[in-house]
Amino acid sequence: MAENFSGKKFSGKTVYNGITMGKVMVLRGNQEQVRRTKITDAEQEIERVHGAVENAQQQLGVLYDKAVKEVGESSAAIFEVHQMMLEDDDYLDAIYHVIRTEMVNAEYAVAITGDNFADMFAGMDDEYMRARAADVKDISTRLIRNLSGEGGVDFSTMEPSIIVADDLSPSETVQMDKKKILAFVTVHGSTNSHTAILARMMSIPALIGVPVDLNEVHTGMTAIVDGAAGEVIFEPTEFQCNEAEEKIRNEQEKLRLLQELKGKKNETGDGRSIDIYANIGSVSDVGYVLENDAGGIGLFRSEFLYLGRDDFPTEEEQFQAYKQVVQTMGKKKVVIRTLDIGADKQADYFELGKEDNPAMGYRAIRICLKQPDIFKTQLRALLRAAAYGNLSIMYPMIISAEEVKKIYAIVEEVEQELKQDAIPYRIPEQGIMIETPAAVMISDELAELADFFSIGTNDLTQYTLAIDRQNQRLEDFYNPHHKAILRMIQMVVDNAHKCGKWVGICGELGADTTLTETFVNMGIDELSVAPPMVLKVREKVRAM
Ligand code: PEP
Ligand code: MG
Repeated sequence: MAENFSGKKFSGKTVYNGITMGKVMVLRGNQEQVRRTKITDAEQEIERVHGAVENAQQQLGVLYDKAVKEVGESSAAIFEVHQMMLEDDDYLDAIYHVIRTEMVNAEYAVAITGDNFADMFAGMDDEYMRARAADVKDISTRLIRNLSGEGGVDFSTMEPSIIVADDLSPSETVQMDKKKILAFVTVHGSTNSHTAILARMMSIPALIGVPVDLNEVHTGMTAIVDGAAGEVIFEPTEFQCNEAEEKIRNEQEKLRLLQELKGKKNETGDGRSIDIYANIGSVSDVGYVLENDAGGIGLFRSEFLYLGRDDFPTEEEQFQAYKQVVQTMGKKKVVIRTLDIGADKQADYFELGKEDNPAMGYRAIRICLKQPDIFKTQLRALLRAAAYGNLSIMYPMIISAEEVKKIYAIVEEVEQELKQDAIPYRIPEQGIMIETPAAVMISDELAELADFFSIGTNDLTQYTLAIDRQNQRLEDFYNPHHKAILRMIQMVVDNAHKCGKWVGICGELGADTTLTETFVNMGIDELSVAPPMVLKVREKVRAM
């Protein structure tokens, strides 16, 4: 298979500009069946099986050590049994036999052999042997996963890799160990999705809409992902590798030069200044914020705390997370947005149900106002954490002054409860996200109620242009520079300033350096961008 791919280039849309080179890890959904494909080189497939077995032995060793510490030696023994089964000649020979006689891919040969052995064990008289049917299935699944990335990744043993997938949901992405991801390449997806936003936040080179057949690429291939060129190259030639290495060196040099802007002001030549903050999705992202010298956190997407788990985070868990962020940031401002779940950010335990138009559906503040118990838990955690630092709260998807008044009434209830329980708290600054055309049009009225505004240009563009930000087919129509959007931003700034309130932009447009000058001239007070963009925006402001 790899031979056909030697030096093959595929183009896609760039989500983040970096360049990287490394091993591929193909991720396919759990539901996908193992496909039977004809191969021409049986020995090459057998080599792949050897590699998968070796990886499996190593993974099982790690699992064994972990289990010994956590649950004791007798429970951990199962992993040793699996290791022994993987050395069994009958099992391995049967796999090689299927590959050689049927000239089929390794994944298929393992799946068939695993099923045959499991059936054989299940039919035995001896109870102990019957129980081995599940184990042989288990090791076969592990091998298939190692061969193709099927059904998820074991991050504990994974080498840093380029993730290649059909698409990735935000909840899959948040669970990934960022240190282990060199790049993302997906067949589907859109540049405005939250998965794309996460890639930018982590400064991971990422491409979407890459028309690659996932049955042709496999885990273990080498690839170059070049975000700036919008290209991925599989099994690169020596020449392509040399070229990429040169680009990587240039990029590192540019990054090194940007570092010199650390500690400098975000000030134009004629003395105007703007705050440049960073967007985060988890407590661990605070490291990136400090590393990139952001003046604060302008958007903490708190809903990411709710994703990739089976149940709601408790008040205590949330309190600890928010407290840690504000304490780490010291005097710097931390704007935490309340839960913005729904649309592409789904967690099963919310039981939101299927909707025809989820982006215009039951999401964000609507859930919080309809299910105040969920909201109050978060507000309690936020008010408590506010006592430990410079925390502000921000409410998403607002469309009316009535909603804001309802929110304030709930905040007051929470305050009374905390007071009664003698729990330390503080009522922080409370702002509104301006991300619906309705909020723009009544921003004069909202400015009297809110302490600040933060413009969510991702959703504002989606709702103003009537373009689903998730829909890959509409990428060419999605124009965040549309005059309508720029006029709306100016209107919001003017209305906020009339009431003496500050206004920022926390959508992706805030990091668009072709508009930095426009935003400063409009009077925007703050731009909140992905951490790796902070110094680039600073560079632009200082060049004005
Ligand atoms: C926005 O809509 O611009 C925003 C910042 O929020 P999110 O991208 O999380 O919807
Ligand atoms: Mg939004």
